[in-house]
Amino acid sequence: MVISELYHKKKRSLSFEIFPPKKDSELKNIDETLTVLCELKPDFISVTFGAGGGSNRNRTIELAKKIKYEYQVEPVVHLTCLSYNKSEIDEFSKILVQEGIQNVLALRGDRNPDIQEKEDFHHASDLIAYLKQKEAFCIAGACYPENHPESENRVTEMRHLRTKVEAGAEVLISQLFFDNTYFFRFIEDCRIAGIEVPILPGIMPVINAAQIKRMVTICGASFPIRFQKIIQRFENNKEALFDAGMSYALSQIIDLLVNDIDGIHLYTMNNPAVARKICEGIRNII
Ligand code: FAD
Repeated sequence: MVISELYHKKKRSLSFEIFPPKKDSELKNIDETLTVLCELKPDFISVTFGAGGGSNRNRTIELAKKIKYEYQVEPVVHLTCLSYNKSEIDEFSKILVQEGIQNVLALRGDRNPDIQEKEDFHHASDLIAYLKQKEAFCIAGACYPENHPESENRVTEMRHLRTKVEAGAEVLISQLFFDNTYFFRFIEDCRIAGIEVPILPGIMPVINAAQIKRMVTICGASFPIRFQKIIQRFENNKEALFDAGMSYALSQIIDLLVNDIDGIHLYTMNNPAVARKICEGIRNII
């Protein structure tokens, strides 16, 4: 199933992001996570794509196949383009087609001084246009309610996002954020700019103070005072941080749901307890 169909049929989707484990031995442990996630009947599960290297690509595909054929849930495969040329992208798309994978989250990828950039693709929109002309994938793209860290300003960011949609992105999935005000303003700006596709808010519940500080530094999401206080108070108390982090994420999600958004995309960090807790909290609401 192509995920864009969801939004013709029903109002809201529930989806998860997971990442392929780094070691083969951990591929087995992923079953525990998937069992819990799939009990919650998500509309799709997206699988991240490590920067550079063939084995990373294989792990993404293996996990996507597992989700599709063992768990009967639709996978969305992330694919970055900065460090690949057209023939490498062709090779990867051919495998996706052979494996019956129909949904791709097409990304540029982060710049990394250790990984050589190639010349064929400079922006996600280049990859999207290329994939669209070659294969019948349903393409999703990334978006940034608080702007991409490299963004010059809000206006150019919106223009580039519109280019991405015009190139063929049918759904947008957002970067994580901790203050819904940014997301609501972003949706409004998108609609004013003529971007009409479904936009899914990405929510990451906090369970680890160090990890969340690192994420905020990388992606530039604001750290509201209410949220900072939770981290400060509970960073050395794992159980308390879990409870407070879940409650914070739940209150964000409920606020989003009562404001008629297109769905919820949960960054699970492969943690089944996170997915379970959040879904118990919204089961009767979504
Ligand atoms: P782009 O859309 O190309 O945008 C990047 C920057 O370039 C923006 O500032 C934009 O305004 C600008 N830009 C875009 N088009 C143009 C243009 N035509 N001219 C000039 N400037 C332009 N990374 C991974 O490595 N693996 C993953 O699996 C992964 N999954 C992700 C999932 C989500 C939901 C999100 C939000 C991000 C994910 N990322 C992942 C991170 C992503 O690769 C980085 O944020 C990257 O820096 C930008 O990717 P993009 O696809 O948004 O790029």
